[in-house]
Amino acid sequence: MTKEVRQAVEAVLPSVRADLEALVRIPSVSALPEHAADVQRSAEAVADLFRQEGFDVQILTANGGAPAVVARRPAPPGAKTVLLYAHHDVQPTGKRQDWTTEPFEPTEVGARLYGRGAADDKAGIAVHLAAIRALGDDLAVGVTVLVEGEEEVGSPTLAAFLAAHSELLRADAIVIADSGNWDIGVPALTTSLRGLVDGTVEIRTLDHAVHSGMWGGLVPDAVTALIRLLGTLHDGDGNVAVAGLHSGTAAPVDYPVYRLRAESGILDGVEFIGSGTAVERLWTKPAITVVGMDVTSVAQASNTLSANARAKISVRLAPGDTAERALAAVRSHLEQHVPWGAKLTFTPGDAAEPTSIDPIGPIYDVAREALRDAWDGTEPIHMGVGGSIPFIASFREAFPDATVLVTGVEDPDTRAHGANEGLHLAEWKRACLAEAYLLARLGAKDYG
Ligand SMILES: [Zn+2]
Repeated sequence: MTKEVRQAVEAVLPSVRADLEALVRIPSVSALPEHAADVQRSAEAVADLFRQEGFDVQILTANGGAPAVVARRPAPPGAKTVLLYAHHDVQPTGKRQDWTTEPFEPTEVGARLYGRGAADDKAGIAVHLAAIRALGDDLAVGVTVLVEGEEEVGSPTLAAFLAAHSELLRADAIVIADSGNWDIGVPALTTSLRGLVDGTVEIRTLDHAVHSGMWGGLVPDAVTALIRLLGTLHDGDGNVAVAGLHSGTAAPVDYPVYRLRAESGILDGVEFIGSGTAVERLWTKPAITVVGMDVTSVAQASNTLSANARAKISVRLAPGDTAERALAAVRSHLEQHVPWGAKLTFTPGDAAEPTSIDPIGPIYDVAREALRDAWDGTEPIHMGVGGSIPFIASFREAFPDATVLVTGVEDPDTRAHGANEGLHLAEWKRACLAEAYLLARLGAKDYG
């Protein structure tokens, strides 16, 4: 069967590539209201693609959210149903001059197809399309495709959408094609993602700013007090020093230092912070970053004690933590460490729960086999991701019995969200193959 499926995928890839390019030409930027019509247009384009495959297609919304496409082909009697997820909205492009090609004109250069959304996540849509088109009438499982239109703005109505359409979307397995692989040539299943909480720390020490010559040395200024407080968030080695934040252990995955240095862009001589293996620090331990500050600018500076100062901190949470517990730990740390009796206000902002998936069970076995065969025998890695995909928690909550497989087309140099986003075409082909193998094997009579 493997050989037939491979040939079928190879036969449909040129047409699917053309469909992907047409999708990339639609600037479906969900964050910008002036692109609302484009988001609608991209939903319609995606709907047309699955309609052409004989699927029953609807464009649906919940609570006034962006249009999502639901395309279905019911399961033959006794067969499993698989939900295939991707999103059709994209990030803004940022500055045009940072791109070497037109962001919304897909352009092949070297091994990659460049363009906003060429990878994240229109290539995910194209993976689903390729598997479905390749298997055609041989598709022996039920398939429901869900292509969301607001992932890049945090999926504000997805939980409501899943609740409202839970009968329509119910499945045995959910394939979320919006993550990536370990490296070029090494496939992965994403099995853990950190969560996030952020908030604003405000410090006040005076009811008005005063002359630093008159009062400096006796009266604390708010900026110094804020900096001292922020300095307590890490120990001398750069480990997070907030008591009560959860830390876990990661699989023994070797992330070589040369890759860490090249992929992060860290400057020569600058040291990594924290302790534990690199992947633990990135995937299963908390991290705190000061992401912004409101203080007097250098240009505006005078010899004055500032009366107030603010900083925004962002806290990545290890799987096993909860946003609520983490916020309480951060608040209590700040209250205990604020120096000199300065007045502290902490205002929480966004929150996203971490996720960890135990990849055990027959569907995971089939998925690993599919990845291995698509990547010419290379064993897939169980990969963590330092960032957050909060909607995965929404799927797990809505469908607690379904097996969730987080796959994707990205590699360490995809530059999703950045300038010069590019899809590695050979890896994309492997992702298409893997998904076709997965659907074929889940539909095979001898499965399970
Ligand atoms: Zn994405």
